Amino acid sequence: MSISILDVQRLATTYDDRTPEQIISLALETVENIAISFSGAEDVVLIDMAVQINPAVRVFSLDTGRLHPETYRYLEQVRDHYGITLDVVSPAADEVNKLVREKGLYSFYRDGHKECCGVRKVAPLRRKLATLNGWITGQRRDQSIGTRTAIPVIQEDPSFSTESNRLLKFNPLANWSSAQVWAYIRDNEVPYNPLHGQGFISIGCEPCTRAVLPNQHEREGRWWWEEAADKECGLHAGNVAAQTAVR
Ligand code: SF4
Repeated sequence: MSISILDVQRLATTYDDRTPEQIISLALETVENIAISFSGAEDVVLIDMAVQINPAVRVFSLDTGRLHPETYRYLEQVRDHYGITLDVVSPAADEVNKLVREKGLYSFYRDGHKECCGVRKVAPLRRKLATLNGWITGQRRDQSIGTRTAIPVIQEDPSFSTESNRLLKFNPLANWSSAQVWAYIRDNEVPYNPLHGQGFISIGCEPCTRAVLPNQHEREGRWWWEEAADKECGLHAGNVAAQTAVR
């Protein structure tokens, strides 16, 4: 695979009004070594669409060790439902042990989430992405007014590309609203995380996610003790960098 930066920008423009299925098809046809990143939330629609294109599609999830019990069970439900190989990616035990030994299990409430997210999410993701040439995410522009309003449907990954590995990142749901995602889930009887039925919209780690009230934005349920501008965990840190650049 060899796609120039200009090709990526051209494809992003061309595919900006295409359907998520068309963007997933492009991703699977263009990048041989690619996988879906599944968070255990409503991004399950990516899997539902992708298995109809390629039943052998690769999927991975980050297990931070701090997910809700409902999310662990849901990961297994999705694995069984679609017959997929789900690669559950764990953080390095020595790094987690060091953090917990030095700062305890809830240091993020005192000094912010970035250190813990760095150990439990970003470092494992970096190791996983180093084995791939592309990844497919469930990011949507309506998920965060502060950080996601400008995400393209296709981009060269601004955070995890390296000199030796230009990583392509596909965001097939970028243009979809939450209502469209949930209409798809209902219409296609897609299994969903039971936490959504308890008022959770955005689902992350148990200590850092809470249900939101009607009309509250979904990101208000994440790291609620921090400023809205900081509400990216590092998996999509390029979004924050891009926002900062235009401010
Ligand atoms: S979301 Fe919370 S518990 Fe999970 S990795 Fe980040 S700081 Fe740690």
